[in-house]
Amino acid sequence: MAHLSPLVRQATPVLAARGEGVYLYDDAGRAYLDFTAGIGVTGTGHCHPHVVEAAQRQVATLIHGQFTTVMHKPLLTLVERLGEVLPPGLDSVFFANSGSEAVEAAMRLARQATGRSNVIVFHGSFHGRTVGAASMTTSGTKFRAGFAPIMGGVTVAPFPYAYRYGWDEATAVRFALRELDYILATISAPRETAAFVIEPVLGEGGYVPAPKAFLEGLRERADAHGIVFVLDEVQTGFGRTGKFWGHQHADIRPDVVVMAKGIASGFPLSAIAASSELMAKAWPGSQGGTYGANAVACAAALATLDVIRDEKLVENSAAMGARLLEGARRIASEHARIGDVRGLGLMVGSEFTRSDGEPDVATAQRAQAAAAERGLLLLLCGTWGQVVRMIPALVVNAKQVDEALAIWAEAVREASA
Ligand code: PMP
Repeated sequence: MAHLSPLVRQATPVLAARGEGVYLYDDAGRAYLDFTAGIGVTGTGHCHPHVVEAAQRQVATLIHGQFTTVMHKPLLTLVERLGEVLPPGLDSVFFANSGSEAVEAAMRLARQATGRSNVIVFHGSFHGRTVGAASMTTSGTKFRAGFAPIMGGVTVAPFPYAYRYGWDEATAVRFALRELDYILATISAPRETAAFVIEPVLGEGGYVPAPKAFLEGLRERADAHGIVFVLDEVQTGFGRTGKFWGHQHADIRPDVVVMAKGIASGFPLSAIAASSELMAKAWPGSQGGTYGANAVACAAALATLDVIRDEKLVENSAAMGARLLEGARRIASEHARIGDVRGLGLMVGSEFTRSDGEPDVATAQRAQAAAAERGLLLLLCGTWGQVVRMIPALVVNAKQVDEALAIWAEAVREASA
């Protein structure tokens, strides 16, 4: 018998047999409240009937059009529909399959368009596991250790992670922008810097929203030096943060938006969007892929956009996110081990800290395991795995949020004992 490679590390002990809405069911029929949503993918919930129907219809019509060989209607319709939700001016879309591929597509676009080689990323970010994307990833050494040599030309600037620095937000922003200016003056000259790439909320790195003043500072510097400002919205897009795009909280204008995860309710699909002018500077045919813009994935994305609009999921994400954040903060106020609770919309993280101020990984792990035993699935994030995150489907209702919070309170109590 063949064995599954030990490379696979599983965060929960669950064997998922079936999914419906915010629940997963194992073979024995046990229900789990799924506050992982396939790492923020199934925004419309597991197997939303409208998405299922659209995908089934497409499977019976055309599975694989291959977009560099023939064009197909689901892709063309999706480009139109994305135009309705993309930030103004980002009117040109290119497709791939995964977040990593889309990050690489954005990085290559920025390099080709500017003729510059360097990229500046921000400490603690996760941009993917392919070589280029892994070179831009600094949420943990496990994504790069043993893979050398990785891609060159990447400089890591500080991210204003105020809580871990032990500073207030304004101080953290001032520090991070000053360090960025220092990097532009000492390591990566503006005329050699193609792009800034940043997540609007540090995802795998610990659910830390990027302060508005910091994103504004990046925008200013991008404008001053002709640097392409890339927002990696792979985890934050499609309503996750309570606005359609995470960067809308800061009201800034990106040059490129990278999207994946929530775009197609679980079908592999990703994309980048930029202005036609910027996209026209890329070299036609230099990017592509056999499976990009798969017809079934595009049909599922169209149905996903319908559900987000018709069920007002962005609004629900904001309302349920506020309820979840408030509840998680209430629980944290009773447990000294949770030092910070933060997030935007349905992206909520509780950071565990020891009494000496260091990350408390052991308690975070115990709390996650205790929650799973009680039927609530959660993931860890943060560089050390010291943050427990909650990312339920955007269809989650108040009763389910309260049920999850009740389990979370018990899990934290058990883990802290
Ligand atoms: N960017 C961000 C912000 C992500 O959260 C992820 C996945 N966690 C990726 C990129 C990589 O996406 P994928 O795993 O689909 O390659």
